Amino acid sequence: MTRPSPFLEPGLRTSANSLAIVGLSRDNYQPITLEQSSGAVDGYAEGATLNTRFGSFPHSTLINVPWGSQVRASLVDTGSRGRKRRREDVESESTPMPSQDETDDKPGQQGLAKAVTASSGFIYLLRPSPELWTSGLPHRTQVVYTPDYSYVLQRIRARPGTRIIEAGAGSGSFTHASARAVYNGYPRGDTDKKGKVFSFEYHQPRFEKMQEEIKNHGLDGIVHITHRDVYQEGFLIDGKSPQATAIFLDLPAPWEALHHLSRRKIHKGGKPDDSDDAWESPLDPKQSVHICTFSPCIEQVTRTALELRTLGWTDIDMVEIAHKRISVLRERVGINYTSERGINATPADVTEAVKKLKSDLKRTHEFHKGHKPDNVSESSDTKMDTDDGVSKPEKTGADDSEAPSEPPFMQGRIIHRTENDIKTHTSYLMFAVLPPEWDDEAEAAALAKWPCGQEKKTIGNLDKQARKQEKREMLASKKSKKQKVDDTPAPAST
Ligand code: SAM
Repeated sequence: MTRPSPFLEPGLRTSANSLAIVGLSRDNYQPITLEQSSGAVDGYAEGATLNTRFGSFPHSTLINVPWGSQVRASLVDTGSRGRKRRREDVESESTPMPSQDETDDKPGQQGLAKAVTASSGFIYLLRPSPELWTSGLPHRTQVVYTPDYSYVLQRIRARPGTRIIEAGAGSGSFTHASARAVYNGYPRGDTDKKGKVFSFEYHQPRFEKMQEEIKNHGLDGIVHITHRDVYQEGFLIDGKSPQATAIFLDLPAPWEALHHLSRRKIHKGGKPDDSDDAWESPLDPKQSVHICTFSPCIEQVTRTALELRTLGWTDIDMVEIAHKRISVLRERVGINYTSERGINATPADVTEAVKKLKSDLKRTHEFHKGHKPDNVSESSDTKMDTDDGVSKPEKTGADDSEAPSEPPFMQGRIIHRTENDIKTHTSYLMFAVLPPEWDDEAEAAALAKWPCGQEKKTIGNLDKQARKQEKREMLASKKSKKQKVDDTPAPAST
């Protein structure tokens, strides 16, 4: 029985020995495998513990928690590490998370110290998805990012049941996304034709790491990874065809691998070779095959295009994804906003500016007269808030009743900006299609399915009887029009 993958069937809650993604901040995601400890681990009396800049999180507080939960940090007992847990800092002896409350009663966790909630710090526990995995995965190579792979997968028509060839596997970013795209249940036995990803990698340590990751993520039923140099040895699996209809090549020289991805034996450069009867194509013989090659340089693109054309691929085109992330926010400008972060405390318009100038002028006059203006208090002269060293705007003395009445999230006007941390060029994406081979048998099958010349009720293809009837009706209508004209009395001559 194949273990369900947390990427495909995550259930409602986190579970032990399974992957979870820890959301630290908007752009910071950390994958962890949750460990069920039965005693102290690495000197932590609470068992295996995740340490982040937002605090420490014993895994016992992260197991059996609904996906998407916010989990508070714990005060960990570092025991042998020498630091003492400060009970006086403990905000509460119980924690809001059920798993924490139940820790002592859980089988296998009796030897663990109970996790105690800290006064600050939290993380989010997120269910694994290819997008989050791509954001946090351990990089062993350059990887394909979400904007590229989401476009690639729809162009190569990856859908539940599709069989994809992928090379090289690299860090597995594309592999995870394609596994989810083709998943339509776990294959059973060798003959099962469920959706699959046939992934190839020739770098031994990367291949081994990928194999381990795919197994740990419960994707070993969907992803079949092979250690191979595909330029030399092609794409068959144990001598058999994977019957692929979609191909993704992220290789330094994709044109070196293309001659293996044909319907007949062809030598590199396009020379056909019919002498080898045992030669098998890795492609599905009955369907069109869609390919994408992913190359950072235009020279790679031109060489690939040349080879694709030579080998009979059609619809060759190239795309570059220019991904932009747009940040939408409310801009609050005006001196009547109370001072806080994110506020541009300058006058919002001329009226507000004039009002402020008048008020400043009045204060200057009062000062020179030796008076303090009635509506300015001692503290409001202070320009610097010393608490955090952040310069806060000077109070204007303007009437408080003019302060905005909307709640803060509705204040200001909505603006959007493109964020400047966006990578621009990643790679050029080349697409092409290889139609199935067409022979007399295929022609006969197509004719049987769509009989030509015998169509009925199709515009432009009326059958003989219908055409005759139409002609008769046309003649009859012409005749009756002529009769009408003949029967009309001629106007009397003057
Ligand atoms: N697409 C991957 C991802 O999203 O994580 C990254 C692929 S990485 C850029 C390219 C990989 O191709 C490398 O891991 C490299 O070892 C592998 N590779 C290069 N030449 C190869 C070959 N002839 N056969 C198999 N793999 C190859």
